[in-house]
Amino acid sequence: MTDNLNFIKCPACGTLMKKVFLENQNILIDICLDGCGGIWLDNRELAKVDEKDEDITPLNEALNGKTFINVDTTAERICPICNKPMVKNHVSAKQDICIDECYHCGGKFFDRNELELMRNQYDSDEQRLADVKELAKHSEKLEQIFQELLKKEAL
Ligand SMILES: [Zn+2]
Ligand SMILES: [Zn+2]
Repeated sequence: MTDNLNFIKCPACGTLMKKVFLENQNILIDICLDGCGGIWLDNRELAKVDEKDEDITPLNEALNGKTFINVDTTAERICPICNKPMVKNHVSAKQDICIDECYHCGGKFFDRNELELMRNQYDSDEQRLADVKELAKHSEKLEQIFQELLKKEAL
């Protein structure tokens, strides 16, 4: 699935989201600039913006100096594309960051600052790996996947 080109309503506050083009990644992302400051990422976009060295200057420039409304981050969100309930998922053990994810289309919603928190939480790949391991503890299935990866790396 490629970029969703329609304007969507923010799943947290219902405001029409604005599109910002990230040149380096060649993707359009949706930001709730006139509402809560949340960020919508289509399927697979997250991998392009989740690390500190991935340049998201246009996104930061758009958010810079704006004030945003507060929203209840624990409320259930409905996917603006599929109209289905989204699922809350931890994306980090260290920072306790919990995002909303749509299992139908793969879309993800980050409340204000959550993406930035996620990007800045690791100083090194070792820390990232340790955190992945920590998260894996929460689920046997993830633990299995992790062990498989370790085995592959050892070969
Ligand atoms: Zn919003
Ligand atoms: Zn969806």
